[in-house]
Amino acid sequence: MRAHDGWIVRVRPRCASMTALQWRVLASLALTYAHPQIELTRLGNVQLRGVSEETLALLRSHLIAAELVPEDEDADLAPAVHCTPFYNANDPTHELAQSLCAAAMALLSPRAMQSMGLPALPGKFGLLVDDDQRNLHHISADLRLWQLADGGYGLALGDCGGHYQFSTAEQVVEASVQVARWFARERMAIAGKVPTRLKDLLVSQPLNAPCLKEEMLHLTTSGAMSLVPPGKTEQGWVLGVPMGRIDAAAMQKLASELPEGTEIRITPWRSLLVVGSNALALIDPLEAEHWITSSTDARLRVSACTGSPRCTQALVPAQDMALQCASHVSDGQHLHISGCGKLCALSSDATSVMFASTHTSGAVLLNVCSASQLDQPAMPIPYQSWSVAPTELQQHLHDLPV
Ligand code: SF4
Repeated sequence: MRAHDGWIVRVRPRCASMTALQWRVLASLALTYAHPQIELTRLGNVQLRGVSEETLALLRSHLIAAELVPEDEDADLAPAVHCTPFYNANDPTHELAQSLCAAAMALLSPRAMQSMGLPALPGKFGLLVDDDQRNLHHISADLRLWQLADGGYGLALGDCGGHYQFSTAEQVVEASVQVARWFARERMAIAGKVPTRLKDLLVSQPLNAPCLKEEMLHLTTSGAMSLVPPGKTEQGWVLGVPMGRIDAAAMQKLASELPEGTEIRITPWRSLLVVGSNALALIDPLEAEHWITSSTDARLRVSACTGSPRCTQALVPAQDMALQCASHVSDGQHLHISGCGKLCALSSDATSVMFASTHTSGAVLLNVCSASQLDQPAMPIPYQSWSVAPTELQQHLHDLPV
């Protein structure tokens, strides 16, 4: 994808995992060919920004050599398979994710769909393998698969309430492929706006597929976590990344201190899971600026869109402002700052939102509102007062109904 400051190059780590060696390569490529940062997305992808047209092909060849992207561009265009970071090597969740990735590339890529006389799936169509606690329940997915407590497998369609049950991983993967093909075929028959997500098609086109038996309505997320904070987990250490932007030099240093094959997985909470290692012991106190090692770190309480200078529509440097604001956000609250009223990448954790707008006079204004009442911002204050009157902003934040 092209942005005004160059190409954005995306890497979709298979099963949410990259080795320390691959991270070293990626960090080195960021330092050589892109902005010196690696961005984590909320879907568990990583991306480099600011790549020039001239170096794009060379960068891609390095990514292919490091097995970070498939050589076959058609396979890279297959639907994304997002995966929980919480699995053990070769356990049923890992095997399910591997099977689904392989099926998506072989059976749902644009070329595979074309060979069946079907149109390609839209870019937004996504599959997800969750863990048995369903910790990724907050992430939108067209097809969601996971292992059930009884050893079977669940399949939920388009974030609707129920799910279908299968005995084996092969069956649930096969059913997912059938539903994806049905979606690709049926959506094109819709008059007017063509749906890009399964849930939108299911509103008007009930799915009656032989591979789906009786729908189970009971779907619980009672054991799921909405945010996995930095710290120790069963699989290793979760290491937070301020604003989801990894400093490439800090990543290179961290990855160089780990054995090459150590897995560093990507979580959907702007953090990394260093499998089987005490990441904390590897972080020098001087590097705390780049990593979040404590669940009480105030930077976990803020998020922001890209903002200026990298987004042409941005009126303010949203990410820098969020970091400045972090210590003023109360525990249990989450402030999202947006460089304009579009509210891209609005975090589902957000309890309050600050977005920039332009007054008829041309002055930039900051609007603060509760995340549940986005259409009712408090009295806007001039952006100019950001540095001179932060107390006024803090008061706005404290006064918001959440
Ligand atoms: S919300 Fe506005 S400023 Fe932020 S990334 Fe989107 S378009 Fe750019």
